[in-house]
Amino acid sequence: MRFRIRKCPECGRYTLKETCPVCGARTRVAHPPRFSPEDPYGEYRRRLKREQLGIPRGD
Ligand SMILES: [Zn+2]
Repeated sequence: MRFRIRKCPECGRYTLKETCPVCGARTRVAHPPRFSPEDPYGEYRRRLKREQLGIPRGD
């Protein structure tokens, strides 16, 4: 299942419709955060592991 989240450029409302339900402006596709096709959750997993190991973030 794949949703195309859209966002209203006028009021910032997220919706699935092409027209904003709030202000009626035409919405745009909200681009998803970057991800790796090989390991889409790699960054999240590494961050989680780092927290478990007690390594402060920043590196
Ligand atoms: Zn709007």
